[in-house]
Amino acid sequence: MKPVRQNGIFFMAQKRDNSAWIKGGAISGGGAPPSGGRAWRLILLGAPGVGKGTQADLLCERLGPLHLSTGDVFRAAKSAPASERTPAIERALGYMQRGELVPDETVIDLVRERVACLRDAGGFLLDGFPRTVVQAEALRQLMQAEQLTLDGVLDYELPTAEVIQRLSGRRTCAGCKAVFHVVTLPPKREGVCDHCGGQLYQREDDRPESIQVRLDAYAKSTLPLTEYYRKLDLLIPISATGSPEEIFQRTLEALQARV
Ligand SMILES: [Zn+2]
Repeated sequence: MKPVRQNGIFFMAQKRDNSAWIKGGAISGGGAPPSGGRAWRLILLGAPGVGKGTQADLLCERLGPLHLSTGDVFRAAKSAPASERTPAIERALGYMQRGELVPDETVIDLVRERVACLRDAGGFLLDGFPRTVVQAEALRQLMQAEQLTLDGVLDYELPTAEVIQRLSGRRTCAGCKAVFHVVTLPPKREGVCDHCGGQLYQREDDRPESIQVRLDAYAKSTLPLTEYYRKLDLLIPISATGSPEEIFQRTLEALQARV
């Protein structure tokens, strides 16, 4: 991979292999910060609908940190054979199958099993962890023991009305499950899937009332966490308005301001 320089920050050309994180094994080869650049150790926060996933991809492709998403770990574990599951994953799946919330202790164990990824010389972008102050405190201790420093917590913000506008425009194909958007990705024929000719409908989750409920729940559960990082002067609020590229440039500026 050849680093590219833009605005004084070195970019990697592609996302790095994060299989050690997914499976919970040792890291193969290990990463290195882009020459002349630096390794970023970051946490990603943002409500549903703010475009956090796109920013995660851009950050990891261009700045080189490993993308450490707990959601990815859970998704992969569900389809992995039991023999390949780590103890913490096995316990986490048990809670999930019973429809229970995975407790802090188990989530922390899951990250502890993957501590090699936190040590990675190319840095990391944590996504989905920490979710609570207890988890944040455990991460702080884990990083302290490893003599690692957290660079910041990227918190993407978008007015509620805009999130509702974005998400409520989504239409899903009843046949092949393809997702369209009435404004940003309209089908060729209104209400009809481009791929299979199936009928498009609005999922229950994408109705404004449901979105409002999800956003309220997110805000309520995340507030203690953002307050925790604000007090540590690690919180980096970023406006998530505009195009993905505009949001990314804003992120870079915010990061550079802290170097
Ligand atoms: Zn379809």
